[in-house]
Amino acid sequence: MAQVVVIGSGIAGLFAALRLDKAGHEVTIITKQRPKDSSTNWAQGGIAGILDKTDGEGKQAHIADTLAAGDGLCNEEVVRLVVEEAGDRIRDLLDAGVEFEKEGESFHLVKEGGHTARRILHAKDATGAEIERALTRAVSASKRITMRPHTLGVDLIQREHRNPKMGIKGLWCLSLDSGKMEAIPADAILIATGGCGQLWERTTNPSVATGDGLAMAVRAGAASKDMAFFQFHPTALMANNKKPFLITEALRGEGGVLLDSLGLQKYRMSGSKPDSFSFTLEFSSKGSLATRDIVARACDQKMKITGADNVWLVTDHLDNVNLHKNFPTIESRLNKLGLSLGKDPLPVAPAAHYMVGGLDVDTDGRVLMEDGNAMPGLYAIGEVACTGMHGANRLASNSLLEAVVFANKASEHFIENSIENIENVPNWRAEGMQELEEHAPLVRDLETLRKTMTDDVGIVRSFRRLERAKRMLDLLSHEVDLIWHRSLPTRELVELRNLILVATHITEDALERKENKGLHWNKDLI
Ligand SMILES: Cc1cc2nc3c(=O)[nH]c(=O)nc-3n(C[C@H](O)[C@H](O)[C@H](O)COP(=O)(O)OP(=O)(O)OC[C@H]3O[C@@H](n4cnc5c(N)ncnc54)[C@H](O)[C@@H]3O)c2cc1C
Repeated sequence: MAQVVVIGSGIAGLFAALRLDKAGHEVTIITKQRPKDSSTNWAQGGIAGILDKTDGEGKQAHIADTLAAGDGLCNEEVVRLVVEEAGDRIRDLLDAGVEFEKEGESFHLVKEGGHTARRILHAKDATGAEIERALTRAVSASKRITMRPHTLGVDLIQREHRNPKMGIKGLWCLSLDSGKMEAIPADAILIATGGCGQLWERTTNPSVATGDGLAMAVRAGAASKDMAFFQFHPTALMANNKKPFLITEALRGEGGVLLDSLGLQKYRMSGSKPDSFSFTLEFSSKGSLATRDIVARACDQKMKITGADNVWLVTDHLDNVNLHKNFPTIESRLNKLGLSLGKDPLPVAPAAHYMVGGLDVDTDGRVLMEDGNAMPGLYAIGEVACTGMHGANRLASNSLLEAVVFANKASEHFIENSIENIENVPNWRAEGMQELEEHAPLVRDLETLRKTMTDDVGIVRSFRRLERAKRMLDLLSHEVDLIWHRSLPTRELVELRNLILVATHITEDALERKENKGLHWNKDLI
C-alpha cells in the first residue's frame, strides 16, 4: 500500500488521514506542536451545512448566501459541490464521534453574519475543540496512522530538482525535540497546514499559523491564488491588552450589537433596544450582522475616526439563560477578565483571522502550477488551499465545511489514482552550515514584518502603502535569505522565511488588483 505524508493535524489533515486509513494506506501525520495545536481547535461558532439531502430550498439558500458573501468571485461549481456534499461529510464527522448540540431529536442550529437562515451546527461555543477531540481520538485508534508531533515540515523534495512537473517524492522536516533534519519519502503529500494570521500584530490565530505549507509548495513550483483576500474578524476581545480572543459571530447572530462610544451613551440613555444606535448601519442595512468584510471595515473606520482602541459589543438586552447555555467558553474567559456576558459592554476590535486565498487547487484538491497543470503527488486541503469556494470573502462557518469536503475529495482522488513509487530521498545538505549564533535579528525582523503588514497591508489599503510594504518585504527577504544560506534551520528561521514569502504574495496580489472586491479594499480604487 502507498505511503502518504499529511502535514498538519487540524480538521483537514485528520479527516484526510482517516479517509486514507480506511482505504488501507499508511499515513504519517507531521505536526509542529501538539496534535491539537491548530486553528481548528480554536474554532467557536460552528460548521455550516444542510443535513437533509432533500432540502433543495435550504441548499439553494446556503449557495446564495455563500455567493453573496464572495462578492462575485466564488467559483459557483465549487460552492454547489461543497453545499451538496455538506450533509454526507457532517455525517462522517458524527460517525467519527463528533457531538454537536441537540435540541430534542434535531440538531440545534445557529446563525452567523451573512447567513439568511439558521444552518450552523455547533458544540456550544467550542465546536472546533469538539471536532479536534473526536478526530484525534479516531486517529490514535488507527494502526496505519503514525502521528509525529513536534516535527516541522521545512521543504518538499522534488522528484527532479527544479522541475515541478515531475512532482514530489518526500519532505524534509526538522525534529523540534532533537534539532535534527530528516528526509521522509512519500508517494503523495497532503498539505494541511492552515493559515498565516501570525503575519499581523493582532490575530485570532494560534502561533502555528505561519503559512509554512503555502511557502514550501510555492518554492517547489506551485501557484498561489487570491492572496489579497485576507479576512479580519470584526470582534476580537481587546480587554487587558492580552492576546486577542475571538468573540464568535454567533453572539451577534443571537442579537449582540456593535456600538461606538457615542452609540453606547445614546443606547444607555434611551432605555430602548441597541440596534438602531449601531454605527454598522452606516455601512449596511444588515447592521451588526452584515458580512465580515463590511463589519470589519466599519469597525476599523470608526476606530480610526474616533481614535478609539476598540468598539463595543453589547449583549445586556439578550436572554441571559440562552447566553449562559450557548457561550460557556466566552463567558468563562470574560469572567477571568472581570467582565460579565449579558451585562458589560465588551471591548472588541478586528483581528487577522482567515486566509481566503491560498494554494491554487482543482476540484480534487490537487495543487496547480503556474501553467494550470497539477503537480504530481501534491495536494492541499483546508485553509491553506484556495478552492474558489469563498471568492473574495468567506461566509462564516464555511471553512470547517470546505476543509472536510476537500479533505475527502483529495483522499478519494489519491485512493483512485495511487501509484506506489517510493524513491530514495536525499539528506538535507548541511555542509558548511553553522548553528544560528544570534536570534535577535530574527526577532527584530519578525517585528518589522508584522508592523509592516499591520500598517500597510491591513483592512484599508492604498497603492503607496502597498508599494512601501513591498520594498520592506524585499529587504527582509534578502536579509533572511543571507541567514538561511549559512545557518542550520531553526523553527524561528523556517517560520520567518515562510511568513515573508507569504506576505510578498499577499502584497503583490493586492498591488495587481484594479478593483475593490470583498476583503480587498484599496482607498485609491474607490
Ligand atoms: C479563533 C478561530 C475561530 C474560528 N471559528 C470558526 C468557525 O466557527 N467555523 C469555521 O468554519 N471556521 C472557523 N475558523 C476557521 C477554521 O477554524 C480554520 O479555517 C480551519 O480550522 C482550518 O483547518 P485546517 O485543518 O486547514 O488548519 P489548522 O486547523 O490550522 O491546522 C493546521 C495544522 O498544521 C500544522 N502545521 C502548520 N505548519 C506546519 C509545518 N511546517 N509542519 C508541521 N505542521 C505544521 C499546525 O500545527 C496544525 O496542526 C476559526 C478560526 C479561528 C482561528
